[in-house]
Amino acid sequence: TSRFAGVPKGPEDAILGVTVAFNADPNPNKINLGVGAYRDDVGLPFVLSPVREAERRIVHAQHHMEYLPVAGSRTFVDKAIRLAYGEHNHHVKTGQVASIQTLSGTGACRMAGVLIQRFLPALDGGPRDESPLVLLPNPSWANHAAIFRDSGCAVGQYKYYDPATKNLDFEGCVSSLEDAPDGSVVLLHACAHNPTGVDPTPEQWAKLSAVLKEKRHQPLFDMAYQGFTSGDMEVDAASVRRFVDDGHRIVLAQSFSKNFGLYGQRVGCLSVLTDSQEEALAIDSQLKIIARPMYSNPPIAGVRIVEEVLSDPELERQWRAEMKGMAERIISMRTMLKGYLEELGSAQNWDHITNQNGMFCFSGISKEQVAKLRDEHSVYLTENGRISMAGVTSQNVGYLADAVHKVTK
Ligand code: PLP
Repeated sequence: TSRFAGVPKGPEDAILGVTVAFNADPNPNKINLGVGAYRDDVGLPFVLSPVREAERRIVHAQHHMEYLPVAGSRTFVDKAIRLAYGEHNHHVKTGQVASIQTLSGTGACRMAGVLIQRFLPALDGGPRDESPLVLLPNPSWANHAAIFRDSGCAVGQYKYYDPATKNLDFEGCVSSLEDAPDGSVVLLHACAHNPTGVDPTPEQWAKLSAVLKEKRHQPLFDMAYQGFTSGDMEVDAASVRRFVDDGHRIVLAQSFSKNFGLYGQRVGCLSVLTDSQEEALAIDSQLKIIARPMYSNPPIAGVRIVEEVLSDPELERQWRAEMKGMAERIISMRTMLKGYLEELGSAQNWDHITNQNGMFCFSGISKEQVAKLRDEHSVYLTENGRISMAGVTSQNVGYLADAVHKVTK
């Protein structure tokens, strides 16, 4: 018999389970609002035209398929960090940013977790006695807790979302960060918070920056949706750049899944802002030591696409325009969904649909109502009431509003 015969069956991933149920449903009107991937206005996966063009050029160039270095493509990583920190950032220009190509945003978070576990010292600079504490917003992307736990970190939470206002519980957020042990690691969603769609205002970011500094917390930014809040890559990097300008030495996980539509290509970057070139080189060396026994070297196909797009001003212009188009389509679906619900005479307040940002709407729909949407209307979303706005189209928004209205009456 197999020595693994006693392995217990683990639970299904809640988000992936939604798609499994959706696929099995024969209703032609069914809607999948579970997946965190952009869909076009007829509900299909969308490949950006500059990405297609870059792919065509790459095939034509008949590149080799040798290994990338352990740290990945230097050209890609340089372009990635410029997108995040800005063209003119002093630390970037002077080689004070440690960085590594990662297996997308998930891999960047995981590399960050291991780096923190292995090297984050106690606040006096000496060795730690305990696992580092990583504080996640409540709620956060469902994978964060597992990523940091599996990296050997302790995981805690800080207050973030207030279900009563369907907005940020800013006072709670500040007080829980103030009450946390000094020198904790604080994970911040740079923009388009998943799952709530609720981001701090610029003034609130400024206050958070001050609180983290006062408490000597380590900021760890997860930027998986740069561009999806405002449609503008520069505007959406404001939180990260504010912290950098305030003197924080941030850790930053970047994903190119959403804003380049490269989901399955696994394109990401981890960077650490440091005080000197020497420090950056030391961290670079350790990042390679972490990556090598996990996967040796990162995949090459996706980064070639990003490099091609960002090396050609015309392709870059198209990419920024189409990125904006994706964000704007989602914003217009928010307006339509809210409008239809109001037209149907819903007694509820749906302002949060248009106030929230990015790919998700934290609708406030209860677990029971989610079950009714699924069973009576073939509308699929995660139990927490998160609607992936990317799954809403001008054809299905009316049906969706009607279904939501019926289950929330
Ligand atoms: N971080 C957040 C907040 C996310 O929502 C996601 C994807 O849904 C990721 C990171 C990582 O995604 P990927 O590994 O595809 O880049």
